Amino acid sequence: MSLWLVISEGCSELSTRAEEQIRADIVEAGRRLYARGFVASNDGNISARLDDQRLVTTPKSVSKGFMTPDMMVVVDYEGKKLSGDRDPSSELPMHLEIYRNRPDVNGVVHAHPPTATGFAVAGIPLTRAVLAEVVTTLGSIPIAEYGTPSTAELPEAVRKYIKAHDGMLLANHGAVTCGNSVMSAHFKMETIEHFAKISLVARLLGREHLLSREEVTRLQGLRGMYGIASPAPVCADPAEAGLDQALCQVLEAPASSTERLVPDVTDALRQASRDGEIRLTYGELTALIADAVKNLRD
Ligand SMILES: [Zn+2]
Repeated sequence: MSLWLVISEGCSELSTRAEEQIRADIVEAGRRLYARGFVASNDGNISARLDDQRLVTTPKSVSKGFMTPDMMVVVDYEGKKLSGDRDPSSELPMHLEIYRNRPDVNGVVHAHPPTATGFAVAGIPLTRAVLAEVVTTLGSIPIAEYGTPSTAELPEAVRKYIKAHDGMLLANHGAVTCGNSVMSAHFKMETIEHFAKISLVARLLGREHLLSREEVTRLQGLRGMYGIASPAPVCADPAEAGLDQALCQVLEAPASSTERLVPDVTDALRQASRDGEIRLTYGELTALIADAVKNLRD
């Protein structure tokens, strides 16, 4: 056996093992998405880069919680099926768009996590600087404009933000994340949903203290220190980059630690009670008027 043959056999064995691991990671990411309630029924799709000619993706019409490695479909970067018994998800063009624009990306996850999707439905992006770990990892999480699922509109909407972001909300739809592996993309999906839950609670409580621009700059410095790869820098100053979301991760952060960008609802309520204002429900008001009319008659 020639030396060349030994080397090439070794490579193909390694690559088979790598593909097996990637398929296993997709199955595991799907199981976690399902267990966490990030997908219902046959929602969501996951893909991974195999090499510069092929990627492997979840098939259409299967629950992501109960997949097996042999169910996956191998396609080229035009979306043409190369192998597999099933057909790829109809959202594959969105995945292809991400791989085309991000050579550093090896895994993409799309799901409908309920709280993050609630923000996407409400048209509220997760772009406020409130949690240090989110600023250092994802930066900001914008909303890609609505596109009809399974049409060219969705990849078109994602294209605008994907060069600078590893995760985004999809208006009236869900969220999509990418990373240097399937599990890295999955963990970013977990971070988005966790951040959405915390943001929702803070907003319900009526207070959301934002980190200052100075602190955001300090956190950005930590990316380098901890080796956190990011496709673009954070822009917390509106003057930077004209707030172009294709070039940087635009974050809402006040210029100083005392400045407030978000009104404090609890302060407003305290002020209202100081001003002697009272609040009644419709039922309470109706009962008061009925009482007053009764007293007049008596
Ligand atoms: Zn979807």
